[in-house]
Amino acid sequence: MKRIARHTVLVFLPPLLSMMLIVGCSPAPAPEQQPNGARKVILFIGDGFGATQVSLGIQYARLVEHRELNIDAIMQDGNTGYSLTIAFGNIVTDSAAAATQMATGQLARNDMLGLDPDGYPLETILEWADKRGLGTGLVTNARITHATPGGFALHQSSRYNSETALMDDLLQDGDVDVLLGGGARALAPAGSWVSEMLPGIPGDLDGESEREDARYRVEDLEDMGYAVASDSSSLREAASGATKVLGLFSASAMPYVIDRQNLSAEGVPTLVEMTTAAIDVLSRHDEGFFMLVEGGSIDYAGHANDAGAMLHEILELDEAVGVALEFQKDNPDTLVIVTGDHGTGGFAFTDGYFGPIPDQLLDSGVVYQPEWSYPTTEHLEILFRQSASYSYILEQAGLDPERLIEQVRTHTGLEMTLDEARAALVRDKDGQPGTEDFRRYRDDPDDAASALLAHHLSRHSFVVWSTGEHTSDPVPTYGRGPGAEKLRGIYPNTHVYSVMRESLEAGIDQ
Ligand SMILES: [Zn+2]
Repeated sequence: MKRIARHTVLVFLPPLLSMMLIVGCSPAPAPEQQPNGARKVILFIGDGFGATQVSLGIQYARLVEHRELNIDAIMQDGNTGYSLTIAFGNIVTDSAAAATQMATGQLARNDMLGLDPDGYPLETILEWADKRGLGTGLVTNARITHATPGGFALHQSSRYNSETALMDDLLQDGDVDVLLGGGARALAPAGSWVSEMLPGIPGDLDGESEREDARYRVEDLEDMGYAVASDSSSLREAASGATKVLGLFSASAMPYVIDRQNLSAEGVPTLVEMTTAAIDVLSRHDEGFFMLVEGGSIDYAGHANDAGAMLHEILELDEAVGVALEFQKDNPDTLVIVTGDHGTGGFAFTDGYFGPIPDQLLDSGVVYQPEWSYPTTEHLEILFRQSASYSYILEQAGLDPERLIEQVRTHTGLEMTLDEARAALVRDKDGQPGTEDFRRYRDDPDDAASALLAHHLSRHSFVVWSTGEHTSDPVPTYGRGPGAEKLRGIYPNTHVYSVMRESLEAGIDQ
Protein backbone atom coordinates (compact mmCIF):
# COMPACT_ATOMS: atom_id res chain seq x y z
CA MET A 1 0.00 0.00 0.00
CA LYS A 2 2.69 2.47 1.05
CA ARG A 3 4.73 1.84 -2.08
CA ILE A 4 1.79 2.54 -4.36
CA ALA A 5 0.97 5.73 -2.47
CA ARG A 6 4.55 6.96 -2.75
CA HIS A 7 4.53 6.25 -6.46
CA THR A 8 1.33 8.21 -6.90
CA VAL A 9 2.92 11.25 -5.27
CA LEU A 10 5.92 11.06 -7.60
CA VAL A 11 3.69 11.48 -10.65
CA PHE A 12 3.06 15.09 -9.64
CA LEU A 13 6.75 15.99 -9.19
CA PRO A 14 8.89 17.55 -11.92
CA PRO A 15 10.41 14.74 -14.05
CA LEU A 16 14.05 15.19 -13.01
CA LEU A 17 13.28 15.25 -9.29
CA SER A 18 11.00 12.21 -9.53
CA MET A 19 13.73 10.30 -11.35
CA MET A 20 16.19 11.09 -8.58
CA LEU A 21 13.76 9.91 -5.94
CA ILE A 22 13.00 6.68 -7.77
CA VAL A 23 16.69 5.85 -8.14
CA GLY A 24 17.40 6.61 -4.50
CA CYS A 25 14.46 4.89 -2.80
CA SER A 26 13.93 1.43 -4.25
CA PRO A 27 15.69 -0.99 -1.79
CA ALA A 28 14.43 0.46 1.52
CA PRO A 29 11.74 -1.70 3.18
CA ALA A 30 8.39 -0.03 3.77
CA PRO A 31 8.29 1.83 7.11
CA GLU A 32 5.63 -0.43 8.66
CA GLN A 33 8.06 -3.36 8.41
CA GLN A 34 10.68 -1.59 10.54
CA PRO A 35 9.95 -2.23 14.21
CA ASN A 36 11.13 0.40 16.71
CA GLY A 37 12.93 -2.12 18.84
CA ALA A 38 14.07 -5.73 18.89
CA ARG A 39 12.41 -8.68 20.56
CA LYS A 40 15.28 -10.91 19.55
CA VAL A 41 19.00 -10.22 19.70
CA ILE A 42 21.67 -12.45 18.17
CA LEU A 43 25.17 -11.30 19.08
CA PHE A 44 28.13 -12.84 17.27
CA ILE A 45 31.54 -12.47 18.86
CA GLY A 46 34.48 -13.73 16.87
CA ASP A 47 37.13 -14.41 19.49
CA GLY A 48 40.31 -12.82 18.21
CA PHE A 49 38.33 -11.33 15.29
CA GLY A 50 40.25 -8.10 14.86
CA ALA A 51 40.43 -5.87 11.80
CA THR A 52 43.12 -7.91 10.03
CA GLN A 53 41.18 -11.12 10.61
CA VAL A 54 38.02 -9.52 9.20
CA SER A 55 39.93 -8.27 6.16
CA LEU A 56 41.46 -11.73 5.56
CA GLY A 57 37.98 -13.25 5.26
CA ILE A 58 36.65 -10.47 3.07
CA GLN A 59 39.71 -10.42 0.77
CA TYR A 60 39.60 -14.18 0.33
CA ALA A 61 35.88 -14.22 -0.53
CA ARG A 62 36.04 -11.23 -2.87
CA LEU A 63 39.26 -12.07 -4.72
CA VAL A 64 39.20 -15.87 -4.85
CA GLU A 65 35.55 -16.89 -4.69
CA HIS A 66 34.21 -13.64 -6.19
CA ARG A 67 31.51 -13.43 -3.57
CA GLU A 68 30.54 -11.22 -0.70
CA LEU A 69 30.69 -12.57 2.83
CA ASN A 70 27.66 -11.97 5.02
CA ILE A 71 29.76 -9.72 7.24
CA ASP A 72 30.82 -7.77 4.15
CA ALA A 73 27.15 -7.30 3.18
CA ILE A 74 26.23 -6.09 6.67
CA MET A 75 29.12 -3.61 6.67
CA GLN A 76 27.96 -2.29 3.32
CA ASP A 77 24.56 -1.48 4.89
CA GLY A 78 26.51 1.24 6.68
CA ASN A 79 25.67 0.43 10.29
CA THR A 80 29.32 -0.19 10.94
CA GLY A 81 31.84 1.10 13.44
CA TYR A 82 34.79 0.22 15.61
CA SER A 83 34.86 -0.97 19.22
CA LEU A 84 37.81 0.08 21.33
CA THR A 85 38.79 -2.99 23.33
CA ILE A 86 40.09 -1.29 26.46
CA ALA A 87 39.62 -3.15 29.74
CA PHE A 88 39.61 -1.62 33.24
CA GLY A 89 43.17 -0.35 33.69
CA ASN A 90 44.60 -2.12 30.61
CA ILE A 91 44.82 -1.18 26.94
CA VAL A 92 44.95 -4.85 25.88
CA THR A 93 41.99 -6.97 26.92
CA ASP A 94 41.45 -10.66 27.44
CA SER A 95 38.22 -12.38 26.45
CA ALA A 96 36.83 -12.35 30.00
CA ALA A 97 36.96 -8.58 30.43
CA ALA A 98 35.81 -7.96 26.85
CA ALA A 99 32.82 -10.30 27.23
CA THR A 100 31.90 -8.83 30.61
CA GLN A 101 32.05 -5.31 29.16
CA MET A 102 29.81 -6.19 26.21
CA ALA A 103 27.48 -8.18 28.49
CA THR A 104 27.09 -5.50 31.18
CA GLY A 105 28.04 -2.11 29.76
CA GLN A 106 30.57 -1.66 32.59
CA LEU A 107 34.36 -1.72 32.56
CA ALA A 108 35.84 -4.97 33.87
CA ARG A 109 39.20 -6.35 34.88
CA ASN A 110 41.07 -8.90 32.78
CA ASP A 111 40.44 -12.50 33.93
CA MET A 112 37.23 -11.56 35.80
CA LEU A 113 33.81 -12.77 34.66
CA GLY A 114 30.59 -10.82 35.29
CA LEU A 115 32.08 -8.74 38.13
CA ASP A 116 32.71 -5.00 38.40
CA PRO A 117 36.28 -3.80 39.11
CA ASP A 118 35.57 -4.00 42.87
CA GLY A 119 34.45 -7.61 42.58
CA TYR A 120 30.68 -7.07 42.88
CA PRO A 121 28.43 -9.07 40.54
CA LEU A 122 26.93 -7.24 37.58
CA GLU A 123 23.67 -8.16 35.88
CA THR A 124 24.39 -9.28 32.34
CA ILE A 125 22.20 -8.65 29.30
CA LEU A 126 21.42 -12.37 29.30
CA GLU A 127 20.21 -12.26 32.91
CA TRP A 128 18.27 -9.07 32.24
CA ALA A 129 16.57 -10.74 29.27
CA ASP A 130 15.84 -13.89 31.28
CA LYS A 131 14.14 -11.84 34.04
CA ARG A 132 11.81 -10.38 31.45
CA GLY A 133 10.75 -13.79 30.24
CA LEU A 134 12.90 -13.93 27.11
CA GLY A 135 14.67 -17.09 26.04
CA THR A 136 18.45 -17.10 26.39
CA GLY A 137 21.22 -19.02 24.69
CA LEU A 138 24.99 -19.43 24.55
CA VAL A 139 26.65 -21.10 21.58
CA THR A 140 30.39 -21.58 21.14
CA ASN A 141 32.94 -23.93 19.63
CA ALA A 142 35.19 -23.34 22.64
CA ARG A 143 34.31 -24.70 26.08
CA ILE A 144 30.83 -23.53 27.12
CA THR A 145 32.36 -22.13 30.34
CA HIS A 146 35.16 -20.37 28.45
CA ALA A 147 35.71 -16.64 28.87
CA THR A 148 33.40 -15.31 26.15
CA PRO A 149 30.20 -17.19 27.04
CA GLY A 150 31.36 -16.95 30.68
CA GLY A 151 31.19 -13.14 30.65
CA PHE A 152 27.46 -13.35 29.84
CA ALA A 153 26.37 -15.85 32.48
CA LEU A 154 29.04 -16.32 35.17
CA HIS A 155 30.17 -14.29 38.16
CA GLN A 156 33.68 -15.45 38.96
CA SER A 157 36.83 -13.78 40.24
CA SER A 158 38.80 -15.59 37.55
CA ARG A 159 38.10 -17.38 34.30
CA TYR A 160 40.87 -19.74 35.45
CA ASN A 161 38.87 -20.98 38.45
CA SER A 162 38.23 -24.72 38.18
CA GLU A 163 36.13 -25.78 35.22
CA THR A 164 33.86 -27.53 37.71
CA ALA A 165 33.20 -24.28 39.60
CA LEU A 166 32.47 -22.48 36.33
CA MET A 167 30.10 -25.23 35.12
CA ASP A 168 28.22 -25.29 38.45
CA ASP A 169 27.85 -21.50 38.29
CA LEU A 170 26.55 -21.78 34.71
CA LEU A 171 23.98 -24.47 35.54
CA GLN A 172 22.95 -23.39 39.04
CA ASP A 173 19.69 -21.64 38.08
CA GLY A 174 19.06 -23.55 34.87
CA ASP A 175 18.16 -20.15 33.42
CA VAL A 176 20.17 -20.35 30.20
CA ASP A 177 17.79 -22.16 27.87
CA VAL A 178 20.26 -23.19 25.18
CA LEU A 179 23.84 -24.20 25.94
CA LEU A 180 25.82 -25.57 23.00
CA GLY A 181 29.57 -26.06 22.85
CA GLY A 182 32.50 -27.99 24.24
CA GLY A 183 33.75 -28.53 27.77
CA ALA A 184 31.92 -31.74 28.75
CA ARG A 185 34.74 -32.77 31.08
CA ALA A 186 33.38 -30.32 33.65
CA LEU A 187 29.98 -32.01 33.57
CA ALA A 188 30.73 -35.74 33.44
CA PRO A 189 30.81 -37.56 36.81
CA ALA A 190 34.19 -37.97 38.54
CA GLY A 191 36.23 -40.91 37.31
CA SER A 192 34.32 -41.30 34.05
CA TRP A 193 35.07 -40.49 30.43
CA VAL A 194 32.78 -37.88 28.92
CA SER A 195 31.58 -40.25 26.18
CA GLU A 196 30.03 -42.47 28.87
CA MET A 197 27.57 -39.67 29.63
CA LEU A 198 27.46 -38.13 26.14
CA PRO A 199 27.80 -41.05 23.72
CA GLY A 200 27.94 -38.96 20.55
CA ILE A 201 31.39 -37.58 21.41
CA PRO A 202 34.00 -39.26 19.14
CA GLY A 203 37.24 -40.81 20.41
CA ASP A 204 39.57 -37.96 19.48
CA LEU A 205 37.39 -35.48 21.38
CA ASP A 206 36.83 -37.72 24.39
CA GLY A 207 38.48 -37.03 27.74
CA GLU A 208 38.34 -37.73 31.44
CA SER A 209 36.07 -35.86 33.82
CA GLU A 210 37.51 -32.81 35.62
CA ARG A 211 35.04 -33.22 38.48
CA GLU A 212 35.52 -34.62 41.94
CA ASP A 213 31.84 -35.50 42.35
CA ALA A 214 28.99 -37.06 40.41
CA ARG A 215 26.67 -34.09 40.55
CA TYR A 216 25.11 -34.33 37.09
CA ARG A 217 23.60 -37.28 35.32
CA VAL A 218 21.64 -37.03 32.10
CA GLU A 219 18.44 -37.57 34.13
CA ASP A 220 19.27 -34.58 36.37
CA LEU A 221 19.75 -32.37 33.35
CA GLU A 222 16.47 -33.63 31.92
CA ASP A 223 14.81 -32.86 35.27
CA MET A 224 16.13 -29.32 34.86
CA GLY A 225 14.16 -29.24 31.61
CA TYR A 226 17.00 -29.76 29.14
CA ALA A 227 16.93 -32.04 26.14
CA VAL A 228 20.49 -33.37 26.06
CA ALA A 229 22.51 -33.70 22.83
CA SER A 230 26.02 -34.96 22.09
CA ASP A 231 26.31 -35.02 18.28
CA SER A 232 24.69 -33.54 15.16
CA SER A 233 21.82 -36.01 14.97
CA SER A 234 20.86 -35.81 18.65
CA LEU A 235 21.10 -32.02 18.41
CA ARG A 236 18.73 -31.96 15.43
CA GLU A 237 16.31 -34.20 17.29
CA ALA A 238 16.48 -32.08 20.46
CA ALA A 239 16.06 -28.86 18.48
CA SER A 240 12.96 -30.15 16.72
CA GLY A 241 10.70 -29.84 19.75
CA ALA A 242 12.41 -28.68 22.93
CA THR A 243 12.45 -25.22 24.54
CA LYS A 244 15.68 -25.95 26.46
CA VAL A 245 18.70 -27.81 25.07
CA LEU A 246 22.09 -28.66 26.54
CA GLY A 247 24.50 -29.98 23.93
CA LEU A 248 28.15 -30.66 24.69
CA PHE A 249 30.19 -32.14 21.87
CA SER A 250 33.76 -32.42 23.12
CA ALA A 251 35.60 -32.94 26.41
CA SER A 252 37.32 -29.59 25.93
CA ALA A 253 37.23 -27.22 22.92
CA MET A 254 35.67 -28.39 19.65
CA PRO A 255 38.02 -29.09 16.72
CA TYR A 256 39.15 -26.64 14.07
CA VAL A 257 37.04 -26.79 10.90
CA ILE A 258 40.08 -28.04 8.94
CA ASP A 259 40.72 -30.84 11.45
CA ARG A 260 37.20 -32.23 11.50
CA GLN A 261 38.07 -34.97 9.02
CA ASN A 262 41.54 -35.58 10.47
CA LEU A 263 39.97 -36.19 13.89
CA SER A 264 37.01 -38.25 12.60
CA ALA A 265 34.75 -35.53 13.95
CA GLU A 266 32.27 -35.38 11.05
CA GLY A 267 29.37 -36.16 13.40
CA VAL A 268 30.21 -33.20 15.61
CA PRO A 269 27.97 -30.20 14.91
CA THR A 270 29.53 -27.18 13.24
CA LEU A 271 29.04 -23.64 14.47
CA VAL A 272 26.49 -23.27 11.66
CA GLU A 273 24.51 -26.31 12.84
CA MET A 274 24.63 -25.13 16.45
CA THR A 275 23.45 -21.62 15.47
CA THR A 276 20.59 -23.10 13.44
CA ALA A 277 19.54 -25.35 16.32
CA ALA A 278 19.73 -22.53 18.88
CA ILE A 279 17.57 -20.23 16.76
CA ASP A 280 15.02 -23.05 16.22
CA VAL A 281 14.76 -23.69 19.96
CA LEU A 282 14.74 -20.05 21.06
CA SER A 283 12.09 -19.15 18.46
CA ARG A 284 9.68 -21.18 20.61
CA HIS A 285 10.08 -18.55 23.34
CA ASP A 286 7.21 -16.23 22.41
CA GLU A 287 8.47 -13.15 24.26
CA GLY A 288 11.69 -13.10 22.26
CA PHE A 289 15.27 -14.08 23.07
CA PHE A 290 18.87 -13.09 23.57
CA MET A 291 21.60 -15.35 22.26
CA LEU A 292 25.35 -15.17 21.92
CA VAL A 293 27.28 -17.10 19.29
CA GLU A 294 31.04 -17.23 19.76
CA GLY A 295 33.47 -18.22 17.01
CA GLY A 296 36.07 -19.24 19.57
CA SER A 297 38.64 -20.98 17.40
CA ILE A 298 39.60 -17.87 15.43
CA ASP A 299 41.44 -16.88 18.60
CA TYR A 300 43.07 -20.29 19.03
CA ALA A 301 44.38 -20.17 15.47
CA GLY A 302 45.69 -16.66 16.15
CA HIS A 303 47.48 -17.79 19.31
CA ALA A 304 49.03 -20.61 17.26
CA ASN A 305 49.92 -18.23 14.36
CA ASP A 306 48.07 -20.60 12.00
CA ALA A 307 46.55 -18.47 9.24
CA GLY A 308 45.01 -21.32 7.22
CA ALA A 309 43.15 -22.69 10.24
CA MET A 310 42.11 -19.12 11.07
CA LEU A 311 40.71 -18.40 7.61
CA HIS A 312 38.46 -21.47 7.77
CA GLU A 313 37.20 -20.46 11.23
CA ILE A 314 36.38 -16.98 9.91
CA LEU A 315 34.43 -18.46 6.97
CA GLU A 316 32.58 -20.75 9.38
CA LEU A 317 31.60 -17.84 11.61
CA ASP A 318 30.42 -15.94 8.53
CA GLU A 319 28.20 -18.84 7.50
CA ALA A 320 26.68 -18.87 10.98
CA VAL A 321 26.04 -15.13 10.61
CA GLY A 322 24.25 -16.01 7.36
CA VAL A 323 21.85 -18.27 9.28
CA ALA A 324 20.98 -15.34 11.56
CA LEU A 325 20.52 -12.98 8.61
CA GLU A 326 18.08 -15.41 6.95
CA PHE A 327 16.13 -15.53 10.22
CA GLN A 328 16.29 -11.73 10.48
CA LYS A 329 14.77 -11.38 7.00
CA ASP A 330 11.63 -13.23 8.15
CA ASN A 331 11.74 -11.73 11.65
CA PRO A 332 12.52 -8.01 11.27
CA ASP A 333 12.20 -7.55 15.04
CA THR A 334 15.62 -9.22 15.30
CA LEU A 335 18.83 -7.30 15.90
CA VAL A 336 21.94 -9.11 14.62
CA ILE A 337 25.30 -7.72 15.75
CA VAL A 338 28.74 -9.01 14.74
CA THR A 339 31.93 -8.00 16.52
CA GLY A 340 35.17 -9.33 17.96
CA ASP A 341 36.51 -9.16 21.49
CA HIS A 342 40.09 -8.26 20.42
CA GLY A 343 42.62 -9.10 17.73
CA THR A 344 44.95 -12.05 18.29
CA GLY A 345 48.47 -12.62 17.00
CA GLY A 346 48.93 -9.47 14.94
CA PHE A 347 48.29 -11.31 11.67
CA ALA A 348 49.23 -9.64 8.38
CA PHE A 349 50.20 -10.37 4.83
CA THR A 350 53.42 -8.58 3.98
CA ASP A 351 55.82 -8.15 1.06
CA GLY A 352 59.53 -8.85 0.90
CA TYR A 353 62.68 -8.91 -1.17
CA PHE A 354 63.16 -12.50 -2.35
CA GLY A 355 65.69 -11.95 -5.12
CA PRO A 356 65.28 -10.31 -8.52
CA ILE A 357 61.89 -10.57 -10.25
CA PRO A 358 61.75 -10.89 -14.06
CA ASP A 359 60.94 -7.66 -15.91
CA GLN A 360 57.66 -7.35 -17.81
CA LEU A 361 57.17 -5.47 -21.05
CA LEU A 362 53.78 -3.72 -20.80
CA ASP A 363 51.47 -3.01 -23.79
CA SER A 364 52.50 0.66 -23.65
CA GLY A 365 56.14 -0.27 -24.15
CA VAL A 366 56.97 0.60 -20.53
CA VAL A 367 59.16 -1.98 -18.79
CA TYR A 368 57.78 -2.90 -15.37
CA GLN A 369 60.67 -3.73 -13.01
CA PRO A 370 59.30 -4.53 -9.53
CA GLU A 371 61.90 -4.54 -6.76
CA TRP A 372 59.84 -6.46 -4.20
CA SER A 373 57.69 -9.58 -4.15
CA TYR A 374 54.09 -9.05 -3.11
CA PRO A 375 51.49 -11.67 -2.21
CA THR A 376 48.71 -12.31 -4.71
CA THR A 377 45.36 -14.09 -4.72
CA GLU A 378 47.43 -17.28 -4.99
CA HIS A 379 48.54 -16.71 -1.39
CA LEU A 380 44.93 -16.46 -0.25
CA GLU A 381 44.29 -19.74 -2.08
CA ILE A 382 47.24 -21.37 -0.31
CA LEU A 383 45.67 -20.55 3.05
CA PHE A 384 42.31 -21.89 1.92
CA ARG A 385 43.83 -25.12 0.59
CA GLN A 386 45.36 -25.94 3.97
CA SER A 387 43.76 -29.22 5.10
CA ALA A 388 45.11 -29.62 8.63
CA SER A 389 46.04 -27.27 11.46
CA TYR A 390 49.74 -26.69 12.14
CA SER A 391 49.15 -28.41 15.45
CA TYR A 392 47.97 -31.58 13.65
CA ILE A 393 50.80 -31.36 11.09
CA LEU A 394 53.40 -31.09 13.86
CA GLU A 395 51.87 -33.97 15.78
CA GLN A 396 52.13 -36.15 12.66
CA ALA A 397 55.69 -35.03 11.89
CA GLY A 398 57.19 -35.45 15.34
CA LEU A 399 60.73 -34.03 15.28
CA ASP A 400 61.61 -35.56 11.88
CA PRO A 401 62.33 -32.82 9.29
CA GLU A 402 61.69 -35.16 6.34
CA ARG A 403 58.27 -36.03 7.74
CA LEU A 404 57.56 -32.36 8.32
CA ILE A 405 58.33 -31.56 4.67
CA GLU A 406 55.96 -34.36 3.66
CA GLN A 407 53.18 -33.26 6.02
CA VAL A 408 53.50 -29.61 4.98
CA ARG A 409 53.38 -30.63 1.31
CA THR A 410 50.31 -32.83 1.88
CA HIS A 411 48.35 -30.32 3.94
CA THR A 412 49.45 -26.94 2.52
CA GLY A 413 50.91 -27.63 -0.90
CA LEU A 414 54.05 -25.69 0.10
CA GLU A 415 57.59 -27.03 -0.48
CA MET A 416 59.87 -26.43 2.49
CA THR A 417 63.62 -26.87 2.11
CA LEU A 418 65.41 -29.27 4.45
CA ASP A 419 67.07 -26.27 6.14
CA GLU A 420 63.68 -24.65 6.74
CA ALA A 421 62.23 -27.87 8.11
CA ARG A 422 65.19 -28.32 10.46
CA ALA A 423 64.90 -24.71 11.62
CA ALA A 424 61.16 -25.14 12.18
CA LEU A 425 61.84 -28.08 14.52
CA VAL A 426 64.68 -26.55 16.59
CA ARG A 427 64.23 -27.30 20.28
CA ASP A 428 66.30 -25.86 23.15
CA LYS A 429 67.96 -27.91 25.88
CA ASP A 430 64.61 -28.19 27.72
CA GLY A 431 62.95 -29.52 24.59
CA GLN A 432 61.08 -26.25 24.06
CA PRO A 433 60.58 -24.77 20.56
CA GLY A 434 63.37 -22.33 19.72
CA THR A 435 61.20 -19.22 19.64
CA GLU A 436 62.28 -17.20 22.63
CA ASP A 437 60.74 -14.01 21.31
CA PHE A 438 57.35 -15.73 20.99
CA ARG A 439 57.59 -17.53 24.33
CA ARG A 440 58.40 -14.28 26.09
CA TYR A 441 54.75 -13.39 25.51
CA ARG A 442 53.03 -16.74 25.24
CA ASP A 443 54.30 -19.57 27.35
CA ASP A 444 52.61 -22.41 25.52
CA PRO A 445 54.88 -25.03 23.92
CA ASP A 446 52.30 -26.16 21.33
CA ASP A 447 51.58 -22.63 20.17
CA ALA A 448 55.31 -21.85 20.16
CA ALA A 449 56.01 -24.89 17.95
CA SER A 450 53.23 -23.83 15.62
CA ALA A 451 54.50 -20.23 15.51
CA LEU A 452 57.99 -21.47 14.68
CA LEU A 453 56.60 -23.44 11.74
CA ALA A 454 54.65 -20.37 10.60
CA HIS A 455 57.82 -18.30 10.83
CA HIS A 456 59.74 -20.67 8.58
CA LEU A 457 56.87 -20.88 6.09
CA SER A 458 56.45 -17.11 5.85
CA ARG A 459 58.81 -16.87 2.84
CA HIS A 460 56.28 -19.02 0.96
CA SER A 461 53.07 -17.71 2.52
CA PHE A 462 53.89 -13.96 2.93
CA VAL A 463 52.13 -14.27 6.29
CA VAL A 464 53.69 -12.64 9.34
CA TRP A 465 52.64 -12.44 12.97
CA SER A 466 53.71 -10.08 15.72
CA THR A 467 52.82 -12.09 18.84
CA GLY A 468 51.13 -15.19 20.19
CA GLU A 469 48.89 -13.07 22.37
CA HIS A 470 46.19 -10.44 22.05
CA THR A 471 46.54 -7.07 20.33
CA SER A 472 45.18 -3.59 21.01
CA ASP A 473 43.61 -2.82 17.63
CA PRO A 474 39.96 -1.67 17.55
CA VAL A 475 37.56 -4.33 16.26
CA PRO A 476 35.00 -3.84 13.47
CA THR A 477 31.45 -3.90 14.87
CA TYR A 478 28.35 -3.90 12.68
CA GLY A 479 24.76 -5.08 12.61
CA ARG A 480 21.39 -5.29 10.98
CA GLY A 481 17.93 -4.75 12.49
CA PRO A 482 16.31 -2.34 14.94
CA GLY A 483 18.97 -0.25 16.70
CA ALA A 484 21.83 -1.24 14.38
CA GLU A 485 22.24 2.37 13.24
CA LYS A 486 23.70 3.11 16.70
CA LEU A 487 26.70 0.96 15.78
CA ARG A 488 28.09 3.69 13.53
CA GLY A 489 31.20 5.43 14.81
CA ILE A 490 33.92 4.50 17.26
CA TYR A 491 33.15 3.69 20.89
CA PRO A 492 34.20 1.57 23.88
CA ASN A 493 33.01 -2.04 23.57
CA THR A 494 30.60 -1.35 26.47
CA HIS A 495 28.50 0.47 23.85
CA VAL A 496 27.51 -2.91 22.35
CA TYR A 497 25.59 -3.54 25.58
CA SER A 498 23.75 -0.21 25.35
CA VAL A 499 22.71 -0.85 21.76
CA MET A 500 21.27 -4.29 22.61
CA ARG A 501 19.60 -3.13 25.82
CA GLU A 502 18.00 -0.03 24.31
CA SER A 503 16.73 -1.97 21.33
CA LEU A 504 15.25 -4.71 23.51
CA GLU A 505 13.66 -2.14 25.84
CA ALA A 506 11.98 -0.47 22.88
CA GLY A 507 10.98 -3.83 21.38
CA ILE A 508 9.62 -5.81 24.31
CA ASP A 509 7.71 -2.92 25.92
CA GLN A 510 5.61 -2.38 22.81
ZN1 LIG B 1 42.82 -15.41 23.25
